[in-house]
Amino acid sequence: MAWAIGLALAVLCLWAVGHPLLRKRSGGLSAYTDPISELAQQRQAIYQEARTLHNDYVLGDVLLADYQKRLQEYRLQAARLLYRQERLQELDQRLEAEIQSRRSAGGPNLEAQRCHECGSSTTDSMKQCSSCGALLSGAAKDG
Ligand SMILES: [Zn+2]
Repeated sequence: MAWAIGLALAVLCLWAVGHPLLRKRSGGLSAYTDPISELAQQRQAIYQEARTLHNDYVLGDVLLADYQKRLQEYRLQAARLLYRQERLQELDQRLEAEIQSRRSAGGPNLEAQRCHECGSSTTDSMKQCSSCGALLSGAAKDG
């Protein structure tokens, strides 16, 4: 019985190691494709298959009923991919807008801070005014 478990484990290990490799190989050379262009590529592949199907039909290799049925399936698949692609693009735009609004609203305050003594511009990291040498309020506590 132990050998069966060992074999199962070995197969599992091989699958776990081999699976990502196979995926990578089938995915092409690029290490990463973003999901939106991947969906677009899949859709292009479906269109390509639909064209091939059409050619087969024209050549008389495919029956009309078969042709229509498979074309309908391709259309459905393409529509689904397009739908997902649009959702992703929408999500992308929403995220982008959120990042933009956060950038302009929050984040470190880069607006000009001014020395209380001479009024020249200072930053958070400065302990002393570079113009007049006055101690700045932010540094006063730890001094
Ligand atoms: Zn100053």
